[in-house]
Amino acid sequence: MYNTDWHIHSEASYDASLTVEELIASAKEIGIEKFGITDHANVNIPSFWANMHESKRLYEKYKQEGFYFGVELTTIPKSLYEYCAKHGTNEGYVYPSTGEACEFMLTLEDMENLGIMYSVAAAHSTWNIDPEQGKVIREWHRQQMYIAQDPRVDVLAHPWWCWRSKKWTEGDLTNFNAVPRSMHDELAAALLENDVCIEANPSMIFGEALPESFYRKYNEFLRFMFEEGVKLVFGSDVHHSPYKDQRNKVEKALGLVGFKAEDFSIPKIHNR
Ligand SMILES: [Zn+2]
Ligand SMILES: [Zn+2]
Repeated sequence: MYNTDWHIHSEASYDASLTVEELIASAKEIGIEKFGITDHANVNIPSFWANMHESKRLYEKYKQEGFYFGVELTTIPKSLYEYCAKHGTNEGYVYPSTGEACEFMLTLEDMENLGIMYSVAAAHSTWNIDPEQGKVIREWHRQQMYIAQDPRVDVLAHPWWCWRSKKWTEGDLTNFNAVPRSMHDELAAALLENDVCIEANPSMIFGEALPESFYRKYNEFLRFMFEEGVKLVFGSDVHHSPYKDQRNKVEKALGLVGFKAEDFSIPKIHNR
């Protein structure tokens, strides 16, 4: 199927424990030839900076052919970025309840200084917005459009991940069609124009968390984006040991909507 993986968390991420040593040994054993670590850069506060420097240190320690240094960026409100820059902490900050300008933790200059070779970026929350279906969809789309158009981004990670949140799944679990087609058109155009890839992430394409009908509709969405010309990359989003081979399941899920092994791309790799 594929022999690459562009979204992996290492022990340097606040929420992960997979060691880089184990990752490298497992990737070799499984036959993953090109892959990268993408630890979380969420908020510009000291703890996330420490995670970034640790991620960099581990990469340098184990760097080798086919292994890349990436990052996972998260959309945050610009006012949060400014608050942290001013106070050195996010304590006391209250997330906005209406859509607000987005930002990422890292500037392009920060990414150059860290030597980050590529980035995956995703929306992870709707901040303080009312958890009503239409509002969640509009907000997620808004953040994803920001991601698709920002020069710091190479891959849109786990698109429409809002379906994995509790807030969302209280509604109709199967209804991925609640996302208007116009949003897919708009997103595809922005991804294409900016040469940003879209990710096939196991948490969204198969499993037990959501009904079979959801996965089918979601995978049809990926196929639609692909047919519009958007490049597809694989990202396992593994956080913990073991780093295992999921290709049979991925192949089965994506094969149902017409994907083949050669449909997977690799993201832009920057010489930073
Ligand atoms: Zn993520
Ligand atoms: Zn991730």
